[in-house]
Amino acid sequence: MFTILGYEEAVNSCDCCGKSELKGTFAVQRENGDILYFGSVCVTRHTGKPAKQVRAEACAAVEERIRMATAEYVDCPERVAVEAKREQTRLQGISVGVAFRNATKAESDADNQTRALIAAKFGLKPYQIRA
Ligand SMILES: [Zn+2]
Repeated sequence: MFTILGYEEAVNSCDCCGKSELKGTFAVQRENGDILYFGSVCVTRHTGKPAKQVRAEACAAVEERIRMATAEYVDCPERVAVEAKREQTRLQGISVGVAFRNATKAESDADNQTRALIAAKFGLKPYQIRA
């Protein structure tokens, strides 16, 4: 039994047959927690699911992780702090440009770092978090 986790463009060889130079692979997880990457032929063979269903499940799995990562990120203290600092800076009459970036840099850096950590925890890129 495999759970389909998503489609990975960065992994280009199949862990089943060894075929390489693939456009991407499907990340799947075994019941014991191992994560493997299968090409489109092998993934249908191992899951017993047609390609269309595999693609749909991969999309749904990624969407679910984006939803969970976004939920965690919007409530994290670094996010709250940077929003507060930006608001405070705007109230001081600084709202754009270098002055604004400098005034909010410390909070912004901490926020970006946390965003990247949360994204990585869910197997996502920072830009995939929707907030
Ligand atoms: Zn294969």
